[in-house]
Amino acid sequence: MDLAFTPQELAFRDEIRGWVKDNLPADIAHKVHNALRLSRDDMQRWARILGKKGWLGYGWPKEFGGPGWTAVQKHLFEEECALAGAPRIVPFGPVMVAPVIMAFGNKEQQERFLPGIASGEVWWSQGYSEPGSGSDLASVKTRAERQGDHYVVNGQKTWTTLGQYGEWIFCLVRTSTEGKPQTGISFLLVDMKSPGVTVRPIKLLDGECEVNEVFFDNVKVPVENLIGEENKGWTYAKHLLSHERTNIADVNRAKRELERLKRIAKAEGVWDDVRFRDQIALLEVDIVALEMLVLRVLSAEKSGKQSLDIAGLLKIKGSEIQQRYAELMMLAAGPFATPFIEEAMEAGWQGNFPGAVVANAPLASTYFNMRKTTIYGGSNEVQRNIVAQTVLG
Ligand SMILES: Cc1cc2nc3c(=O)[nH]c(=O)nc-3n(C[C@H](O)[C@H](O)[C@H](O)COP(=O)(O)OP(=O)(O)OC[C@H]3O[C@@H](n4cnc5c(N)ncnc54)[C@H](O)[C@@H]3O)c2cc1C
Repeated sequence: MDLAFTPQELAFRDEIRGWVKDNLPADIAHKVHNALRLSRDDMQRWARILGKKGWLGYGWPKEFGGPGWTAVQKHLFEEECALAGAPRIVPFGPVMVAPVIMAFGNKEQQERFLPGIASGEVWWSQGYSEPGSGSDLASVKTRAERQGDHYVVNGQKTWTTLGQYGEWIFCLVRTSTEGKPQTGISFLLVDMKSPGVTVRPIKLLDGECEVNEVFFDNVKVPVENLIGEENKGWTYAKHLLSHERTNIADVNRAKRELERLKRIAKAEGVWDDVRFRDQIALLEVDIVALEMLVLRVLSAEKSGKQSLDIAGLLKIKGSEIQQRYAELMMLAAGPFATPFIEEAMEAGWQGNFPGAVVANAPLASTYFNMRKTTIYGGSNEVQRNIVAQTVLG
């Protein structure tokens, strides 16, 4: 196993670094480095910049207009973007639904949907979870009934991330109640502007509306929006979830946030406390270990060996690390991190807050937000079950 990068890979990294430096808007990088609120415009502005360069679909093969990068190149691209302070690519279009459309969609669907995803013009949402169907996803009840040349969809999805901006949503819908629950699910693409679709934002503990409920009331969806075969949606859904979990590990973001934690600890004076530095050191060791795990996966792929089946492990460790750095940042700022001030999330906010390092005010918000990481993308308890079955046997 060789974990070192080749000279060509290092040259590639330099190229990416230079391009990101020249093209990432400074105001967006400032917000990311300080965990400030990103607007829809911020996220989409960066997506369009990447789209224009042909890099929003950075994991796509050449035949679908992607750069055709190796696993190592993709990793280096993700790393350079994260360290420079680029927003995370909203994954629902380019990382999640696009690979499904490539693998299981027909030519018309590929020609119709992929260009809008690659350019960053069309905002996609993920409609899997429902009230009562999260971990037990195969129990979804949102019903799609075929009537001639369209389906009529009724039901509800929930926890739909950034669904308030969504233009299209890919949904798991029930098309049959016969047999095992998994065999009656279909994968449907729904235009969120269709009559009968209602999006209701859910206000969360951190004061943000990152997730939504989406209701479908007799929504007519043309049959040509069905991906693959009716009742085969579970297979396509699983294909997508493996992409989601690797993406969630986000080791590069952890490396960036570790540096931020150190900055906060120094600004707040706790850097001099050896016990606090121990905590940071332990976190750093875990981040390096996670990075080694990611590099092992890359090395296995590079040498053509069977890729390690450890998506679940990456998700568990990555999400725990995200929660730890958020917690340590809040501890470092002490009482100055606790007040919940919604406006503090805005760039340029200068609160009248004696004694506080202004940049630390959003830390409580970040801490609350990070509670999600061990739940979404398949909860960590469920991931542990999967790891126990697939890795330990
Ligand atoms: C911030 C956020 C964003 C999300 N975004 C989206 C999105 O965009 N689209 C989407 O479709 N979904 C989204 N989700 C939903 C997410 O996938 C589910 O929340 C997750 O799968 C867990 O399901 P649940 O919330 O129904 O909890 P439940 O499944 O009800 O689980 C409750 C608790 O029981 C535990 N548990 C359940 N089953 C088992 C088991 N077999 N063994 C051991 N423990 C078990 C769980 O670990 C959890 O602690 C999002 C969730 C969050 C928090």
